Amino acid sequence: MNYTIQEMISEAEIDKRIREMGAQISKDYEGKEVCLIGILKGASFFTCELAKRISVPVTIDFMHASSYGSGTVSSGVVKIDKDVTVSIEGKNVILCEDIVDTGRTLSSLKEVLKEKGANSIKVASLLDKPERRVTELTPDYVGFAVPNEFVVGYGLDYDQRYRNLPYIGTVVFEEGKEEG
Ligand code: 5GP
Repeated sequence: MNYTIQEMISEAEIDKRIREMGAQISKDYEGKEVCLIGILKGASFFTCELAKRISVPVTIDFMHASSYGSGTVSSGVVKIDKDVTVSIEGKNVILCEDIVDTGRTLSSLKEVLKEKGANSIKVASLLDKPERRVTELTPDYVGFAVPNEFVVGYGLDYDQRYRNLPYIGTVVFEEGKEEG
């Protein structure tokens, strides 16, 4: 099916909002060090841009997680495909995510990091789809709330493509038109 990508949030708007989030985090963690943990692959761009806007000492690591079990309905349990590479014991962790949807991924990852002995765990997400939530998870820092539409860009993919778009867009399918 043919589709187009329609811009929803511009590069300038994202840049401005990440600066604001960085300033807020710098204020909240004054006198402390933060450990940013980005969730691959989607949050890679956001994690790095956010890190650049934080003025307190920052360390960066990444995790990759996938939903356990088969079928189309997520079991709510995540499998860690790539774990953090440094100890997070006693650290002030901020989990960085591209988008919070049901909240299952981050709920599970928060538990995993708690067991590893983090001092505190907060969540920063570039995007949030609050109406899709099925868990108690509320991100501590949110870039933009978005409607329940499939979005791409700034790390988010559609079939592994479009992660490199510097803006957030929606995938708009053109009904009745076949590719070819
Ligand atoms: P959750 O565990 O909160 O349901 O899932 C969050 C993950 O679902 C995100 O990290 C992302 O990989 C994927 N996801 C949810 N909504 C979208 C969307 O609109 N676009 C893309 N590309 N991925 C999404």
